[in-house]
Amino acid sequence: NSVILLKNRPAGKPSLKDFEFTEEEKPQPTEGEILLKTKYVSVDPYLRGRMRDEKSYIEPFEVGKPMESGIIAEVVESNNKNFEKGDFVNGMLQWKQFQTSNGTGLNKVDSKKAPLKAYLGILGLTGMTAYLGLEKIGKLQKDETLLVSGAAGAVGSVVGQIGKIKGCRVVGIAGSEEKIDRIQEKFGFDAAINYKTTDNMKKAIAAACPKGVDVYFDNVGGEILDAALANMNKFGRVINCGAISLYNEIKRPMGPRVETTLIKNSILMQGFTVRDFVKDFGPAQKKLSEWLEDDKISYLETVVEGFESIPQAFIDLFDGKNKGKMIVVV
Ligand code: NDP
Repeated sequence: NSVILLKNRPAGKPSLKDFEFTEEEKPQPTEGEILLKTKYVSVDPYLRGRMRDEKSYIEPFEVGKPMESGIIAEVVESNNKNFEKGDFVNGMLQWKQFQTSNGTGLNKVDSKKAPLKAYLGILGLTGMTAYLGLEKIGKLQKDETLLVSGAAGAVGSVVGQIGKIKGCRVVGIAGSEEKIDRIQEKFGFDAAINYKTTDNMKKAIAAACPKGVDVYFDNVGGEILDAALANMNKFGRVINCGAISLYNEIKRPMGPRVETTLIKNSILMQGFTVRDFVKDFGPAQKKLSEWLEDDKISYLETVVEGFESIPQAFIDLFDGKNKGKMIVVV
């Protein structure tokens, strides 16, 4: 039974040397337990934060202990009356091929309603983050301008499509020509900016958003956030969802001082973690499912094969190798 451990806390960008593969005996489920076989593994930027020895909204990983993330697993043996052999479950599980669980924190997922992988993306935390961040903090209104960074990624691509459903001008920021073409052609974004080939992001945002920015959904932080803030309209809302451009920084760079920007334009800037809105997951998932069925929304996945590929798939997020949700199929 293969297991992936955190070997070192990375300094800067994670590398394969920070992970260790080890073998353990396949576990046996005791009374009340189930045996799970890992099927689909979600790799996510926030896992980088858990590799630091820092207090956050979720406990840091321990060196020498298994990594974990959102996983879809199959129940292959059950001594628990709530689960049957052949069920599929979704939950925060360890990077192991097989593991036992007493079922706490696991949700059954139905492969007849949606492809299982979708529960790690559009119908999982990714979709919830996009939908609830926009709804609860962005309070996006028809005809407003929505700017989103990380726009070809799992969260960003959903954010932009919701903006189009709501009747907004949607502008995306992403890191390659292929990505900016894709989000306009496949997802209907009105304009897109390649931040890697643009010298002056402040000017580029102004040009793509002639009426200014009403809502900025920030997935990346850093200089792109600074440039977006300079373009916000009066009563604009900034949703601090993520700051991937800073996750690997050893020393946090100083940005422009933003106090007067926010005051002059009465801007609301609010961070959140999707778990703040757990009670709203049901309605959000229902809405996203309806949009999927009605073909109002679609999604991209980058699917990598093999248990041994999990660490590299995670590292590749920081090089933008994924389009849409990055998933490893085991
Ligand atoms: P993505 O699918 O967007 O993957 C990460 C993407 O980030 C890459 O594809 C890459 O795209 C981009 N990126 C990598 N490095 C940089 C950089 N230095 N500057 C700018 N962009 C970069 O991941 P998710 O959709 O899962 O997550 C998006 C953000 O949302 C992350 O910051 C994540 O931490 C956050 N998040 C927050 C949650 C919350 O509860 N608040 C929940 C889930 C996610 P490109 O080619 O465009 O550079």
